[in-house]
Amino acid sequence: MPGAIASRVDPMTVNLLDYDLDGLTRFCEGLGEKRYRAVQLFRWMHQKGASNFDDMSDLAKSLREKLKVAARVEGLKPISQHISSDGTIKWLFDVGGGNAIETVFIPEEDRGTLCISSQAGCAIGCRFCSTGHQGFSRNLKAGEIVAQLWFAEHFLRKHFQRDERVISNVVMMGMGEPLQNYGEVIPALRVMLDDHGYGLSRRRVTVSTSGIVPKMDLLAEQCPVALAVSLHAPTDALRDDLVPLNKKYPLDELMQACDRYLEHAPRDFITFEYCMLAGVNDQLEHAQQLVQLVRRYASAGRVWCKFNLIPFNPFPASGLRCSAPQQVQAFARVLVDAGIVTTVRKTRGEDIDAACGQLAGDVQDRTRVGERIARQRNWTIKPVSMDDQSVKET
Ligand code: SAH
Ligand code: SF4
Repeated sequence: MPGAIASRVDPMTVNLLDYDLDGLTRFCEGLGEKRYRAVQLFRWMHQKGASNFDDMSDLAKSLREKLKVAARVEGLKPISQHISSDGTIKWLFDVGGGNAIETVFIPEEDRGTLCISSQAGCAIGCRFCSTGHQGFSRNLKAGEIVAQLWFAEHFLRKHFQRDERVISNVVMMGMGEPLQNYGEVIPALRVMLDDHGYGLSRRRVTVSTSGIVPKMDLLAEQCPVALAVSLHAPTDALRDDLVPLNKKYPLDELMQACDRYLEHAPRDFITFEYCMLAGVNDQLEHAQQLVQLVRRYASAGRVWCKFNLIPFNPFPASGLRCSAPQQVQAFARVLVDAGIVTTVRKTRGEDIDAACGQLAGDVQDRTRVGERIARQRNWTIKPVSMDDQSVKET
């Protein structure tokens, strides 16, 4: 059963969710098996959600026996599931040591987006981010990153009784700074992109970064996917204060790295995320400075960035406030008038604290909206027993 915790797994064995297809191939070769066996195994895990080797009926019995001794397929332990009145679903997963991470599914008319975490906590310490305020606990393993998609995809297929893919987009915008966990994020991305895995398009997998310049260059070279850069300020003085990493990689370096990234990117633009903070970075003067900043770096008239203005989700320890909606609109207007495509992010899942940067919540599944959305999309609805998934629904 996908996502369930196999209680008898031996932690000394290898968790196969940690491997991309090349890694799994090497592992299988170590067992004396050919690559096509690794492909079969990979498809069983990721396309069918299997975790029990005995269910993998077309694998030779001898291989299944070897796997039982040497390997395991271990997902994450869900602690809770919350469904918002707008259909957003948030899961909290236990990652041991008293730490939890969150994963959020955001259904929209034409896509299903999963927002996943890359670290427990975060060391960057942005002022407006509740994860940053929690501090850093540890990097997630590749298998723990993949397990969020593995769980959500197969849970949702079962929930909506669908054979086809439910999740079309992945954004690494949950907890953590993905490029500070580069070595684990890359194989996880490869599993998402692999046609034998989830087969997601590079354009529909987005890494969001606070701007770790050398790792942006590496990502461009090794696994170019869509890139979002958390900008939040038009000047170094302000960005130093909001995103402390700016002291290490200031705006000039960051903007040049964005320009280089575009040589390899699957899209012809970078998305700049900009969290709107009342009286801090939301003045029209800031918008004008942003226009100047972007113009300074835009090469040869190429369309190379879009802005996504994010309404700040307040939390008490931040001491910050969300900008008024009319201020956000006026700010957006300055950018749009300068020819910059700008969107204002819809806040999703507010009633379950699932909006980006919101990591705690304890709310009721009030309206069963997942089911309403399913009806709108003509998906079959099947009530799901949370016991099946070892999830506590609160
Ligand atoms: N560490 C990466 C990805 C995770 S944060 C990054 O910083 O890009 C994902 C997005 O959520 C970032 O753009 C971040 O600025 C935004 N965010 C964090 N806290 C927020 C809050 N309280 N309200 C709104 N957006 C927030
Ligand atoms: Fe870390 Fe991103 Fe939060 Fe900054 S916004 S503290 S980089 S998770």
